Amino acid sequence: MTVYLVGAGPGDPGLLTQKGAEVLARADVVVYDRLVDRSLLALAPTSAVLVDAGKRPAGAVDQPEVGAGSGAARQDDINALLIAHGQAGRTVVRLKGGDPFLFGRGGEEAAALSLAGVPWEVVPGVTSAFAVPAAAGVPVTQRGLSSSVTVVTGQVGDESRAGAVDWESLARAEGTLVILMGMATRGEIVRRLRSGGRPADEPVAVVEWGTTARQRVVRTTLAGLEAVRLASPATIVVGPVARLALSSPERRPLSGRSVVVTRAPAQAGALAVGLRQAGARVLELPVIEIADAPEERAGLERAAGAVGEYRWLVFTSANAVGHFVPLVGDLRRLAPCRIATVGRATAAALSAHGLLADLVPERPSAEGLLEAMPDAEDGGRVLFVKAAAAGETLADGLAAKGWRVDEVVAYRTVEAPPPRAEIAAELAEADVVAFASPSAVRAYLHLRDTDGGRLPVPPVVACIGSTTAMAARTAGLAVAVEPSSATVEGLVASIAAHFGAIPGRR
Ligand code: SAH
Repeated sequence: MTVYLVGAGPGDPGLLTQKGAEVLARADVVVYDRLVDRSLLALAPTSAVLVDAGKRPAGAVDQPEVGAGSGAARQDDINALLIAHGQAGRTVVRLKGGDPFLFGRGGEEAAALSLAGVPWEVVPGVTSAFAVPAAAGVPVTQRGLSSSVTVVTGQVGDESRAGAVDWESLARAEGTLVILMGMATRGEIVRRLRSGGRPADEPVAVVEWGTTARQRVVRTTLAGLEAVRLASPATIVVGPVARLALSSPERRPLSGRSVVVTRAPAQAGALAVGLRQAGARVLELPVIEIADAPEERAGLERAAGAVGEYRWLVFTSANAVGHFVPLVGDLRRLAPCRIATVGRATAAALSAHGLLADLVPERPSAEGLLEAMPDAEDGGRVLFVKAAAAGETLADGLAAKGWRVDEVVAYRTVEAPPPRAEIAAELAEADVVAFASPSAVRAYLHLRDTDGGRLPVPPVVACIGSTTAMAARTAGLAVAVEPSSATVEGLVASIAAHFGAIPGRR
């Protein structure tokens, strides 16, 4: 029922704020801009409507997010769209590059929404103005070099207009200048900064696609800026700090590669995390979704109401925690219970409710949990909160230890619908698909087949181990990467080794 003006961060999808991810996850409509990394769209529910508001005007060189170049009409259209969806009571995410209120026209959209009486909220973002220089090792202020920073638009525009940039005054004031949207007009900017007194040898750093896998940095001086051939989006830093290179952007083994991984609740994202750490751009494809199990609801509520009768509560997934704990109501009813989780992700879900797990086995599996669970004293009761499709291992094993086990179903998993066109287009560009289980292979191919072939199989198929590779080969895929140790680390390392000396595409 609210329009959220959300900053998507400077490029690296990991720099979206947690709050931004939260509102995306419950969006009905997402209106996104050109510079927003498309992989963020996968955070929205599959039912959300996606609107591309950043179609680039033909021939534009270095425009702000929307509007400029194609006239105010486009911005009016966007305002009208946000208002209409807002008035219809939808949760709308207006996803903008960097921070929405810095040269993103977020202020105009907010004003239009207020005028129309539509509730809105801003979710600030990490701005490229500071994050992009940082990614190139340039701090925008530094003791002894610069004690102020000015962020300025390079769109020189009509000098007589209110708000036109007074470059000569900026030149006279000391301090760092961070110029956004300045590449097209850099000749004019240099001329005016020089006439305001900045020296020809003033250090300049230009960063293209900062914070992303295709980041490029050129260091020069004011005199050399015009000759720099980098394209939009680029950020120009002028001032003594531009000489600094506190971190050399290391080239990580998978920089410039994009990898598709299937996202299933059980996989807990370890593979995606490992791949990102190696520099890859990860496209997560949801293959399984979590759904309520309404027919089990009564049993679940009954168990939640009588929770104090159980000696132990056992959770095997964060989803089970999420579906059960809110039903308990007053958490003091849990006082007599001890709580076991199968792994750390589930324990983390508990801690989000202010609960600490008493038992988290070393080995995150049903077997590991059984091993760690004590034997029952005097026929105590255990409540096992599980998914509809859960196997019997855990319940049987607990019973064998003497526990009286009650099982309740908190949720069920269903196949995700095929990806939307926006996501499918991104997937089509991927270099690798990485499978961490035979079920991931099957789910992926199932999606491909239901999607009329829109979902391609990337050129390199990587499998975590021999069982998964077997499943892929049986399905007719040529497996190019199969590590000798079947671990996430092994898989990431083998994908990196596969690309070895082949330079990144971007
Ligand atoms: N609201 C955005 C800025 C919008 S103006 C923010 O807070 O970051 C768009 C300009 O930002 C681009 O023309 C470019 O100058 C800069 N920019 C955005 N993303 C960038 C990136 N990844 N690398 C370099 N510059 C970037």
